Amino acid sequence: MEKIAVTLSQNLKAKPEDESKLGFGRVFTDHMFLMNYEEGKGWFNPRVVPYGDFALDPACVVFHYGQAIFEGTKCYRRADGGLQLFRPEENFARMSRSAERMGMPHLDEALALEGLKALIDVDQDWVPHNDGASLYIRPTMISTDVHLGVHASKTYLFFIIMSPSGAYYKEGLKPVGIYVEDEYVRAVRGGTGFTKCAGNYAASIYASEIAEKKGYAQVLWLDGVEQKYVEEVGSMNMMFAYGSKIVTPALNGSILPGITRKSILTLAQQLGFEVEEKKLAMADIFEDIKSGKCTEAFGTGTAAVISPVGELAWGDEKLTINGGEIGPVAQKLYDTLTGIQYGRVADENGWIVKL
Ligand SMILES: *Cc1c(COP(=O)(O)O)cnc(C)c1O
Repeated sequence: MEKIAVTLSQNLKAKPEDESKLGFGRVFTDHMFLMNYEEGKGWFNPRVVPYGDFALDPACVVFHYGQAIFEGTKCYRRADGGLQLFRPEENFARMSRSAERMGMPHLDEALALEGLKALIDVDQDWVPHNDGASLYIRPTMISTDVHLGVHASKTYLFFIIMSPSGAYYKEGLKPVGIYVEDEYVRAVRGGTGFTKCAGNYAASIYASEIAEKKGYAQVLWLDGVEQKYVEEVGSMNMMFAYGSKIVTPALNGSILPGITRKSILTLAQQLGFEVEEKKLAMADIFEDIKSGKCTEAFGTGTAAVISPVGELAWGDEKLTINGGEIGPVAQKLYDTLTGIQYGRVADENGWIVKL
């Protein structure tokens, strides 16, 4: 494996004093990891360098045709001060799958993980200490050929930046209101829904803005073909509890295969819940919430881990779920998974990478 060159910053930034005011994705650490790709040569020049601007030609493919993919994972600080990652190899494997769909090269996944470790090593003091806070990690790949033809690029840049982020929930898990979007769609059959490509998010911003103006935290997307079936929420997968049974939409190519989703499904079974992945009609979910059969709804994703849904609006109808409170299933799964991530609960599945 090519050796990772490290150039330390001579101009270290002041670290945020009050971790409770960090918010999400606004402050970045002192360094970043970069490596380049050229067709015929592969990934080369892996390096940790001071965080800073890129100089890129305005004709780069990424600016015009959006060949850009990303990932999101976190570094956690245990109570003993040690640092750990949660299933990072899953993120790099997913990035390679996203890359393939976008006509981009597979990542050198082992080198990317070494690069991440080298980056965290130099910026380790940036990992927050407060419970619930973490260092958010954003690996990204962009196409850099200078050419306005609509073709796959022959050169790419991979980078990782990191941002200390505050606890998602400051006062315990607070359920959010969700708006079921029945006009716009996020992804279609045969499209890019299963990838973390930048364009998926560009296409979602308008509907999210409308939902926010109406007072909802996020949009719940229906399938892009019949607009009947539950897909996912913003940047989270959706799950519904029916007593001690958990149901979630089956992966169908247009849903993002969440690492939190996969982990929660495994943990739920280990905790004695029944789980089912299937095609879920929104109309059935609505009926089941009204009749009380469906007892909880929640999203799963790296940022919030679990986000309970207290209110669901679809057309003219608005339903309250579990009295707008977090339910026992979401709470149990949240406590177990965050317990593993912060080192309070034994990791029986080999998910933790200690640094
Ligand atoms: C990232 C993301 C998720 C959640 O994936 P995790 O790996 O659990 O963080 C779900 N849906 C979308 C659209 C996403 O971008």
